[in-house]
Amino acid sequence: MKRFQLTPVPARWEDRPCEGSDLELWFGPADDLPGQLQETPAERRRREGVAKSVCAGCPVMAQCLAQELQHGLGDQWGVRGGLTAAERQDLIRARRAAVAVVADQAEVA
Ligand code: SF4
Repeated sequence: MKRFQLTPVPARWEDRPCEGSDLELWFGPADDLPGQLQETPAERRRREGVAKSVCAGCPVMAQCLAQELQHGLGDQWGVRGGLTAAERQDLIRARRAAVAVVADQAEVA
């Protein structure tokens, strides 16, 4: 019986599906558009859902998210790393809170 060894394929940034795609999918319409051309909350949720589904198939999603989380809380824009800006901000806050708890526990010990 022939045996096969599975070798992980290295993830490559150049294979990311967002490369060269329409920026509006990731960041929404430009802020300076007239109000009637801005997206409604329902349109925004739908667009973000599509963007997140593209991210879900991205070979570098984990690296992308890790890189985005290195930016500050106020520097989160659009869908990146499979999460919206608000979701990444929540994650950053949660991580900071967890670090603070560990630091407090280390002080007590
Ligand atoms: S995870 Fe990052 S690199 Fe991959 S498609 Fe989404 S935004 Fe692009």
